[in-house]
Amino acid sequence: MIDTHAHLTSRFSQDFEKTVEEAKEFGLKKIVLSASNIEESEENIKLSEEWDLLAACVGIHPQQTDPWISLSIDEQINQLDKLAENPKVVAIGECGLDFSPPPPEEKERSKKKQEILFRGQIVVAMKHNLPLVIHARKAVDETVEILKSYKNLSGVFHCFAGGKKRINKVVELGENWYFGIDGNLTYEVGLEEVVRNIPKNRLVLETDSPFLTPVPFRGEINKPGYVKYVYQKLAEIWGMSLEETEKQIDENAGRLFTLDNLG
Ligand SMILES: [Zn+2]
Ligand SMILES: [Zn+2]
Repeated sequence: MIDTHAHLTSRFSQDFEKTVEEAKEFGLKKIVLSASNIEESEENIKLSEEWDLLAACVGIHPQQTDPWISLSIDEQINQLDKLAENPKVVAIGECGLDFSPPPPEEKERSKKKQEILFRGQIVVAMKHNLPLVIHARKAVDETVEILKSYKNLSGVFHCFAGGKKRINKVVELGENWYFGIDGNLTYEVGLEEVVRNIPKNRLVLETDSPFLTPVPFRGEINKPGYVKYVYQKLAEIWGMSLEETEKQIDENAGRLFTLDNLG
């Protein structure tokens, strides 16, 4: 089993070592750490150098264009470009567009700035030949439009929940595009239909820890080990054994992130 999207930096994880050890006990072979800003990107690299189980993403969340962010977009992209050289880095992200309503204290999020930050990261991904971890909230169509203007990209739409039409749009981007499904699959019936419409060889599973905790631990803090419950639910939906499901999903994740030593 592989958790393809978790946040374990100090901001999120209270008991990091215990969480990682526990993930091993759950049978996880790899945890891919998502990053939301430069600090977390640096921390992910450090963690992945210390722990074989961890793989690092470096990236900048679309909300890093919010007015209180001190680094300019150019500065963020330049720093990211340097971090992406590290051999421990397996992907750029999470990056993309987030058009969900901003909190009340904020009037409006700049869509233009988000696009500039996103395109900057696409260029970094191309330069270093890395896949993209896409965060597209209320913005899948707009995100696909941007990605279509580049060639030979690969990546995953993390925390995907779109209907058939949107699935097809992502599939049409090319054979190197994947869908990430989270713990809400265990309690949102609508997501089961989404999953049925995604080709089996394009699906990966994730926790988005510490968020989106699956049944039977809903309401608690999520951790990578709990991805097991998402695998179990998927096996049920596919009508396959857990072993067969695991084999298919882990192959997909290995292909997407070029993960080695999966054992
Ligand atoms: Zn996200
Ligand atoms: Zn995330």
